[in-house]
Amino acid sequence: MNSVILLGAPGSGKGTLAQHMKTRWGVSHISTGDMFREAVKNNTAMGAQASVYMKNGQLVPDDVTIGVVEERFSKDDVKKGFILDGFPRTIPQAQALDAIIKDKDLKITAVILLDVDKSLIIRRITGRRSCPCCGNVYHIETVKPKKDGICDGCGTALIQRKDDTEEVVKERLEAYEKQTAPLVDFYRAKKILVSIDASRSPDYMVKQLEDLGF
Ligand code: ADP
Ligand code: ZN
Repeated sequence: MNSVILLGAPGSGKGTLAQHMKTRWGVSHISTGDMFREAVKNNTAMGAQASVYMKNGQLVPDDVTIGVVEERFSKDDVKKGFILDGFPRTIPQAQALDAIIKDKDLKITAVILLDVDKSLIIRRITGRRSCPCCGNVYHIETVKPKKDGICDGCGTALIQRKDDTEEVVKERLEAYEKQTAPLVDFYRAKKILVSIDASRSPDYMVKQLEDLGF
């Protein structure tokens, strides 16, 4: 059974890789970014709180984020394994996750670091389009849908995320360097970190995981 954390800068392909692996592994995809966007869409109080930070490319405060994840882990499907995409992103979040995992008698199989050339990130993110209905992610140059602007999976018109502009991406990258990059050492010390080259195609990322025995 696989229960992994995907760690990597914005635009490193965490969501795309999760999309590829969740069906192969039969596990749940847990994306805090998707959960926050869903809350914003549904106009919940938590969504209103989160959107202030998301708009500016900053991290949502730890207490809010940890609360959302705690609630998600109260569902039974996590026992089949899970892919954590975008969580944890700070040391306190990683510590909170340790406590949740221990409490539920679960185990993290590996932390997969998506290593990507920084020069690729801005182009990747500003060209990204996603389906507001099923969450599928595309790119205007590299991962085109069969029909321009339309989701292959469900036929919905694709949209660009509001925080996928160059200005906000720069903020998100800064937040990554300052707050999230320290998690690399945190998990390396626990000896569960593996690294893959995320500068190439999604298929190549999947192949690297297979070569690593996943
Ligand atoms: P990406 O990894 O491409 O930046 P996400 O969809 O994972 O995008 O996250 C989008 C936004 O949601 C982040 O910029 C941040 O504001 C918020 N967010 C998502 N996950 C977390 C987290 N674990 N902690 C704090 N904020 C988060
Ligand atoms: Zn769709």
